[in-house]
Amino acid sequence: MIDTVSVAPVTSFRDTLVRHRLLIPTGARGVYGFGAEFDRVLQRLDALITRAGENDGAEVLRFPSLLPRTDLEASGYLKSFPQLVGLIHAFDGDDRAHAALLQAVAHGTDWSGALGTTDVVLTPAACYSVYPSLGGETLPPSGRLFDVLGVCFRQEPSDDPARMRMFRQREYVWVGDAEQCRAHRDLWIRRAQEMLHALQLPAEAVVANDPFFGRGGRMLAASQREQALKFELVVPITSVEHPTACASCNYHQDTFGRAFEIRDARGSLAHSACVGFGLERIVLALFRHHGFTVDGWPMPVRATLGV
Ligand code: ZN
Repeated sequence: MIDTVSVAPVTSFRDTLVRHRLLIPTGARGVYGFGAEFDRVLQRLDALITRAGENDGAEVLRFPSLLPRTDLEASGYLKSFPQLVGLIHAFDGDDRAHAALLQAVAHGTDWSGALGTTDVVLTPAACYSVYPSLGGETLPPSGRLFDVLGVCFRQEPSDDPARMRMFRQREYVWVGDAEQCRAHRDLWIRRAQEMLHALQLPAEAVVANDPFFGRGGRMLAASQREQALKFELVVPITSVEHPTACASCNYHQDTFGRAFEIRDARGSLAHSACVGFGLERIVLALFRHHGFTVDGWPMPVRATLGV
């Protein structure tokens, strides 16, 4: 498929989305509200992903956007992605501390010192709630498959609307042995590609790496690429040279099995694989490639989505 859409600077794309009431800007970079049309398309997209996986017998799980801090620690996230973490703080002071807080607000000075840390962090990926829920478990021989949807957070403020700090992620997560996980990952690379092509988006599957932090991270990223553990389906949204990952298909090997003591039926550490769809990103790609009003979209795209 040929991309015929010329890609404008990120700010003009964002301004047009705002003008059409698709995105509602807030005072914080990368944090948006969503208008009715945007949300309608997103809900239909979510239903399309449900249809793509509905015969697989996944167990549906829905978690809130908070994760126990201890689970984030166990997952290794702080080692790999400290730059993206969001920790919840809350006020736990007395009357005096409260008065000091109000004084600071009134003077426009920093009041965050009045808050203390809590035992919860913002969930960075929808599947991160699944593995702790299986902690200590021995899986059945067939493994287990989960369907998750979560609002996720990553601290990467940007003017690019395709890089939000809070966004919805729909995932199918397999936990089982290595062979099952690789098969799950490969099946969904194909399915996700078919789905995005049915939506007439020029999606391309590429080997990718996670944004590992620091010098050690460069080695982790290289090794992840070398072993082809992560594939992304990329679509140009705000840049042709740097297309946006709209879905990713990941094989984690036994990272989470080891972290949460999950074992397969043979007693080995469980492996896991997930496919994640960035719902807002795919919706943005649809508006970018087919226009800012749904009524003008190609009929086959509207039929596929049911909009
Ligand atoms: Zn995942």
